[in-house]
Amino acid sequence: MNISENAMIEPGTYLGVDRNTTGHIAVVGNPVTGKILKLGKQAEHVRKKYRNIRKDLQRKGKYKKVKRTKRRESRIAKDINHKVSKRIVQEAKQNGMGIKLEYLKGIRQAKSGRNFRYSLNSWSFYQLEQMIEYKARLLGIPVVYVDPYHTSKECSRCGQIGNRSGKGFKCQCGHVDHADANASFNIALRPPLVESIDRLHVDRDACKGNTDIPKEATL
Ligand SMILES: [Zn+2]
Repeated sequence: MNISENAMIEPGTYLGVDRNTTGHIAVVGNPVTGKILKLGKQAEHVRKKYRNIRKDLQRKGKYKKVKRTKRRESRIAKDINHKVSKRIVQEAKQNGMGIKLEYLKGIRQAKSGRNFRYSLNSWSFYQLEQMIEYKARLLGIPVVYVDPYHTSKECSRCGQIGNRSGKGFKCQCGHVDHADANASFNIALRPPLVESIDRLHVDRDACKGNTDIPKEATL
């Protein structure tokens, strides 16, 4: 693979990735085709399973084992993130699209969070973001960020505030959708934040000047 093949593409369209979903790690919307990918469903099962195991161990006073299960759960969560990020980047590559994510401020302070469940959750969000960025960069796919305000409340068809309840979304315009799918389309269609475009230019310049790009981009 030479540098020209690795140069950043200039996509006209973006996949929207919703991470605040009801039961998945990420829901990916392609506003051009209407296709939706729901990824990482097993994560919720893993969370529940380990929560129960820990409750049991705590009751028995086995605190060392509790620690060990936390590490194990983190490893499993990381593995799921690897798979999910790989799938998202592949989908962008196949469609010649960029990737849009919500700019979620809180997740950067996640590591200092006291509550393990909260901190693993937000740490996992951040980790997924880092993995998407890394894998996308290897393939020259731009990753940009959008304002998360009301992404799950607005209608992706008409822009009005709709009615969200559980997994469903309904708008007065008649649009009915899965709530996470609607959010992912909103993310895909939103203009990127200026800061994330600026950073993209830095990346693009770095990409042009870099001659050490690995032969086979390993995802
Ligand atoms: Zn509407």
